Amino acid sequence: MGCASEHASRPWLEESDPSGERDTTGKDQGVLSEKRPARTAKQETMKCKICKEKFEAKFSSFQKTCNSVDCMVAWGQKVKDKAYKSETRQMKKASREQDKSYWIKKAQTEFNRWIRERDKGLPCISCGRIHQGQIHAGHYKSVGAHPELRFNELNCHAQCSPCNNNLSGNIINYRINLLQKIGIDAVEWLEGPHLPQKYTIDQLKKLVGKYKVE
Ligand SMILES: [Zn+2]
Ligand SMILES: [Zn+2]
Repeated sequence: MGCASEHASRPWLEESDPSGERDTTGKDQGVLSEKRPARTAKQETMKCKICKEKFEAKFSSFQKTCNSVDCMVAWGQKVKDKAYKSETRQMKKASREQDKSYWIKKAQTEFNRWIRERDKGLPCISCGRIHQGQIHAGHYKSVGAHPELRFNELNCHAQCSPCNNNLSGNIINYRINLLQKIGIDAVEWLEGPHLPQKYTIDQLKKLVGKYKVE
């Protein structure tokens, strides 16, 4: 039957075996081919992963493709590509874990969403309009100039997009309405000096969790 030589090189078996077990029984089956048990119904209805044709496995019960070499080679490549993709994905994830700017961005996204949720239905903090358009989370002290206040709830309020984008925050009116909303002490505190704030990745992850809106 030529089984011994066929067993010598079967790279597709090692990579396509989902159970992670090597086909240790294959050799025995080869030697004891006469005693090989009758194929189960499942084996008989196996479909080739590549050409989708039904096939009867000739080499192993772990065989994923029909007995055509082209299908076997194509399947081997597919398995390799998949492993490569998963490895790159894991590497990306691992490097992202250590990337502080990634976590700052993520925490800011969650924080801003939380602010919009908190201020739902409130008028724009600057122009006082309740309008149908996009609502932004507008920082009173800008994130660029005052990064230490980027996650401060007193410093961020719902704002219409014209005020946020076109009027540089419409800050004079922002202040007038902010005084009404949070009081002079809080506004003056925001305007006062602040120590620079350095976040660890761990702190940023906690902020992501804290502000995540379900
Ligand atoms: Zn096939
Ligand atoms: Zn506005």
